[in-house]
Parts: sequence; C-alpha cells; structure tokens
Amino acid sequence: MQRLQDRVAVITGGASGIGLATARRFAQEGAKVVVADLDETAGKAAADEVGGLFVRADVTREDDVTAMYAAAKETYGSVDIAFNNAGISPPDDDSILETGLDAWRRVQEVNLTSVYLCCKHVIPYMRTQGKGSIINTASFVARMGAATSQISYTASKGGVLAMSRELGVQFAREGIRVNALCPGPVNTPLLQELFAKDPERAARRLVHVPVGRFAEATEIAAAVAFLASDDASFITASEFLVDGGISGA
Ligand code: NAD
Repeated sequence: MQRLQDRVAVITGGASGIGLATARRFAQEGAKVVVADLDETAGKAAADEVGGLFVRADVTREDDVTAMYAAAKETYGSVDIAFNNAGISPPDDDSILETGLDAWRRVQEVNLTSVYLCCKHVIPYMRTQGKGSIINTASFVARMGAATSQISYTASKGGVLAMSRELGVQFAREGIRVNALCPGPVNTPLLQELFAKDPERAARRLVHVPVGRFAEATEIAAAVAFLASDDASFITASEFLVDGGISGA
C-alpha cells in the first residue's frame, strides 16, 4: 500500500516547476492527480505523463476554481488533497518605490486571492468527507526580511502564511489540515526568469543559503507529499520550511 494510494490530489500550477515535480511524486505514491494550470500544452503533457486529468484553470477566476474541483470529484469521486501552488513573480522592479498599483494587484490576485478561492471551494468537499489536506505555497521571503526588494511578492506570500494558519486552526477539529509551505529558492522556470533579468541576483541570493545551492523541485515535492500524507497527521497550521537553512541563518 502506497502512502497516497487512491487519494485524489488537485495541484494548481501543476504544469511546471514545483507543481510538476509534485504531480510526479504524488503519482509515484499512488495518488490520482488533477493538474490544473493556465498552460494547456504543458498541463496536458504533465497530466498524460502521470496518468491524471488536466483541467485548464485560471486560479484567479472563481468559476474556473469551482469547475476544477467539480471535475476532480466527477472523475475520481473525491478531493482529498489540494496543493494550492500556482504563482507568479512580479514582472518588473518590485521595490516599494517602483511597483505600480496594477502590478501590485496582479500579484495579489494570482498569489493570494487564488489561495483564498481554492481554500473556499475545496473545504466543503473535505468537510463532507471529514478529512483533507491543504498545502498552500508561500515562500521563505514571507518569514524574514530577505532584502529581495520584492514588495508585492513578499506581501502576497505573507498573506498566504496568515490565511493558512487561520484556516488550519479553524478546521483542525474537522480533520482538515492546512499548512503553508515555505520553500527557499528553487531551481524552476520562475527563478530562472528572475535571474535571467538580473544575473548577479543569483550570486547574491546564493550567499544566504547555508547549504550552498538552490533546491531542486523534487526536494520540495518530497516535503509536499509528506504534508499531504497521514505521516503528517499531527501537523497543521504550520509554516513548513524547506529552505536549505535560510531561516535559521
Ligand atoms: P513556475 O513558473 O515553474 O510554475 C508556476 C505555474 O503556475 C506555471 O505552470 C504557470 O502556468 C502557473 N500559473 C501561473 N498563473 C496561473 C494562474 N492564474 N492560473 C493557473 N495557473 C497559473 O514556478 P515555481 O517556481 O514552480 O513556483 C510555484 C510556486 O512556488 C509559486 O507560488 C511560487 O511563488 C512559489 N515559490 C517558488 C520559489 C522558487 O524559488 N522557484 C520559492 C518559493 C516559493
């Protein structure tokens, strides 16, 4: 019997990076995986690879989010795990003096409002089942002054932390665990694009990682699989660090 045998998992942002690595890991551990993403080509390829279902969803749209969970329930019969992971990095200079209101709002919408929508619409399924695990992707930057000058991004991830803690406490007695995942820098397209714009940024960031390297997405996926599983049955409302020691330094 595998750890996630027949659990139904919906992964937002499952077409790339951390989400894709987690789709693979969940499938290896026996889960039925729903890959939800804006990117249809990569999303379908990911779902095919893991023998799962692809749902095209813009997680900032409430009707897409409700349709995504409805499709999971209709296809596989339940929604046991929600990995609310889709996110973006701000497009331009994200320092407080430069970030415009439109850019700020877009980052809040994709990184924070989406998590509100996903939690709001998955909890009723989990309530009915009396069980569920929600993992919301925050970031190490939400926990510390990381001097990244990414004000909209950092604020959005701080919101994810606070919301996850609140929901974890509120629904603990109903068997629904809610945890915030705080990865350090991870070698994914999101990070690569950021460093492509500012190559010196990679070296500056690396200095602060005690293990001396960035994470691979598979290392984050291993932690997500743990949080999703019954091995983490006493873990809720936590800020789960997978950051190569950054927060401890
Ligand atoms: P990525 O760019 O590789 O993947 C993000 C995925 O989200 C993409 O497939 C993209 O199409 C999808 N997406 C974006 N907007 C969407 C929307 N509106 N609706 C549906 N899907 C959408 O990025 P990643 O590095 O794997 O990041 C995943 C999560 O991890 C993000 O929330 C990110 O903020 C967070 N994170 C990343 C790092 C890092 O260093 N890479 C560190 C900490 C936290």
